Amino acid sequence: MLERRRTRQVTVGSVAVGGDAPVTVQSMTTTKTADVEGTLAQIYALAANGADIVRCTCNDEAAAEGLAQIVPRSPVPVVADIHFRHELALAAMEAGVHALRLNPGNIRKPAHIKLVAREAKARGLPIRIGVNAGSLDPEMARRHGGATPEALVASAMHELGLFREVGFEDVKISVKASDVRLMIDAYRLLAETTDHPLHLGVTEAGPLPQGLIKSVAGIGTLLAEGIGDTIRFSLTADPVEEAKAGRTLLEVLGLRERKGLDLVACPSCGRAEVDVIRVAAEAQAALEARNIPLQVAVMGCVVNGPGEAREADLGIAAGRGKGHLFVRGRVVRVVPEGEMVTALVEEAERVLAEGADARIAAADADAEAIAAATRDELLQIQGNDANRAAERISRIRRIAQP
Ligand code: SF4
Repeated sequence: MLERRRTRQVTVGSVAVGGDAPVTVQSMTTTKTADVEGTLAQIYALAANGADIVRCTCNDEAAAEGLAQIVPRSPVPVVADIHFRHELALAAMEAGVHALRLNPGNIRKPAHIKLVAREAKARGLPIRIGVNAGSLDPEMARRHGGATPEALVASAMHELGLFREVGFEDVKISVKASDVRLMIDAYRLLAETTDHPLHLGVTEAGPLPQGLIKSVAGIGTLLAEGIGDTIRFSLTADPVEEAKAGRTLLEVLGLRERKGLDLVACPSCGRAEVDVIRVAAEAQAALEARNIPLQVAVMGCVVNGPGEAREADLGIAAGRGKGHLFVRGRVVRVVPEGEMVTALVEEAERVLAEGADARIAAADADAEAIAAATRDELLQIQGNDANRAAERISRIRRIAQP
């Protein structure tokens, strides 16, 4: 487990953020909040795909009224996103939201900020101070020579100071930027400055794949340093992709237990005996449809496949028209190549139902021997030089001779 920075804890509805709570995944709806049914459908999809908390914009009165109907029916806590108009924060609280996000860059009057904080304190609701490099308070930018890490942190601490004046500290903080290096530096500085829980994100990361890469680079770097209590991927994509990506990142870093499938597959090479990309895609679709929470490997050849993927719960490796099913690296069954995916799914269901040890104990007696024979056959055909580079080079030399 990664060692995490100690933070104080806040509670968003039923979900704890910070302290010893697991890192949580957030996403944001893209529907009009006034569209109650559409927004709820999206919230349910986000929750089903790994979101622990969902944020909805509260940009006008109709949105606030929508929230009053959405919150009681939402499967996860709902946060209202507030910009420009502090009175919409008051309206969202009246609608029953579990938390607020305020942007210090566009709600700047101290009296307004303190009024919202007093009301949140009275209702026992947390607020996220959501600083954004793109909408930074101009005064902070002027003082620090632009949207620097120091300016982003100063803006957050200024807002926190106003909250403290009314005795309110139930606060999470974010200092997002679309520039990954700026975002990392700002959060590192913030982590040194305060013990409030931090909400991580690379803002406006953009469409896939760049948006995903930027988010993983920024959020993943900080999480690996123990910084961050809740995360949001800001992708220009279906928000379900944000929830899935956030959840997957936490799982691969060991910060959350695996809830779904982890399909590992070799990149394929000259030894591959099957179209690994196609078989892996078919296996992923079939296993995801059955919600199999195992690590499953699809390997292009039996020469290296079972050994390289021995850490997986189970897998399949191709060779000479056959699929070699293995459980924790031990070959348990051999099937025709055309039945690879079906057999893999069947075996995954059995491993889930009976356990890996039972499946190894029930292995076909001749499976290991068949796999060993195929491996030897392939090594004889392919040799150690699977890409036949040496053979090609000698042919090139013959051709190129004057
Ligand atoms: Fe895949 Fe086999 Fe090549 Fe490894 S050696 S990448 S398992 S095809």
